[in-house]
Amino acid sequence: AHQYDDAQSVLDTIGRQLTIADDQLIEITKAFVEEFQLGLNNYGKDLAMIPTFVPGVPNGTEKGTFLALDLGGTNLRVCEVVLNGDKTFTLSQKKFKVSETLKQGEASALFDYIAGSVDSFLTSHSKMDYNNGKGTGDAVYLGFTFSFPVEQTALAKGKILTWTKGYAAKNAIGNDVVQLLQDAFDRKHMHVKCIALVNDTVGTLLTRAYIAGGALIGAIFGTGTNGAYVEEISNLKKLAGTDAAKGEHMIINCEWGAFNNSRSHLPITPYDNTVDRLSINPKYQTFEKFISGMYLGEIVRLIAVSLVDAVPHPILFKGKSTAALNKHYGLDTSFMSQVEEAWIGKDHSEDAYELPPLGSDWDESKLNAKVVPKLQSIKQLVASTLEYKLEDVSLRDAAILRWLSELVANRSAVLSGVAVAAVLVQTGRGRLPEDTTTPLKAQNDTLGVGVDGSLVEHYPNYEKKMRHSVRVIVGEQVEKRVDIGLAKDGSGVGAALCALQALKQL
Ligand code: ADP
Repeated sequence: AHQYDDAQSVLDTIGRQLTIADDQLIEITKAFVEEFQLGLNNYGKDLAMIPTFVPGVPNGTEKGTFLALDLGGTNLRVCEVVLNGDKTFTLSQKKFKVSETLKQGEASALFDYIAGSVDSFLTSHSKMDYNNGKGTGDAVYLGFTFSFPVEQTALAKGKILTWTKGYAAKNAIGNDVVQLLQDAFDRKHMHVKCIALVNDTVGTLLTRAYIAGGALIGAIFGTGTNGAYVEEISNLKKLAGTDAAKGEHMIINCEWGAFNNSRSHLPITPYDNTVDRLSINPKYQTFEKFISGMYLGEIVRLIAVSLVDAVPHPILFKGKSTAALNKHYGLDTSFMSQVEEAWIGKDHSEDAYELPPLGSDWDESKLNAKVVPKLQSIKQLVASTLEYKLEDVSLRDAAILRWLSELVANRSAVLSGVAVAAVLVQTGRGRLPEDTTTPLKAQNDTLGVGVDGSLVEHYPNYEKKMRHSVRVIVGEQVEKRVDIGLAKDGSGVGAALCALQALKQL
């Protein structure tokens, strides 16, 4: 028998496992909407559906000057944001490094450092008036983007639930993060007042609404994934009877990365099981593990390893592995982006060429002449990223890695589309194919979706693939009205916009 006879069926199986059929996308959306409703009605469900106490989105006419603070990734950012009232803004910022010692020491030391950074920014950067004609004295109003799980109880009040992303500061969990920050400002006798606490997805939604004149959804597809949207208060049953339930609308932070945690809705593969089992949070953030930048490269790496190990004949790299290939999280998602770009061109416009079957019938002599240089450049990328000698990587290995990258990214993008479509259904903007009677709300409106994150910003055709699934789920008429736009600087501008709303309520 030919040495690749078995390979085709192995590859076909992987292809089947990672492809989600249209009718499955619809079923998953139904489950998503159910999980939304469980979270809106109760506390402690998979989808936390966190009330943010932000009553709506801006329309672009907002004016003011605010300080914004962003803590979440590797850096602390202090920004000065001027909202011009014409959908434009200016932003100047300074980044401060947060050391491992600060991340893991006493919370008061961490917040003293944050307050000190704001102080140094104000002395060196700003001559602005942050009073906005509304505050008292020389008050400087600040919005705080804090991208860790928080149980929010007011616009400027929220208990830290857990640390993530390598933070472990002591005496913080269970405390009000705004109070921790305000106490640090007060210890330094600064006139800064934190009046708004914002999640990064909410910041993305507010920012997009400001620059586009309105928006319904904010979503992040970066290291992780999450979304926020404008909900009707009457649907927020868990707030019924409280003061907060008096308004009309409220932005909800879905924490949708946790979809699928305890009830299984997604077609899982052995590779997903491995990713989850070896993660720092098994059984948590399980939707995120199918979707986000942190995991896609790892899924591709695990499949590649299984193909190296395949019996009776190896399917990749003649059975050779490298330290780089064997390393947990050793393959970054940006590698997949580069591979796909080498295939379809920098502007993603070149035809996706047909390849002969990657298994038993692989015949290099039959390759289209246009395809060969593309596979050669992918082969170089594979060799340099995974530390193979060039002669250990065949054009077929390169073709398999390209195919795998596309499969895994495609699954991510269509599931991202499910999350967006589920919000459209939940808010009455879209409906499932089987439902032909529920009247659609806001039938002529643009449905604004602000997005941020390296995956959606840089991965070739990510938005196009997301849109495909939105179209399958809610139909072309609605999908056409969905306006997906980047909302960069969302954490700074969003915090400023939120501070402005808070100032009105002071
Ligand atoms: P964060 O979400 O932490 O604010 P980013 O939005 O930059 O940061 O997302 C970082 C994630 O995006 C990482 O997991 C990384 O693997 C992935 N990533 C970085 N560059 C690219 C790229 N060009 N294409 C796809 N994914 C990328």
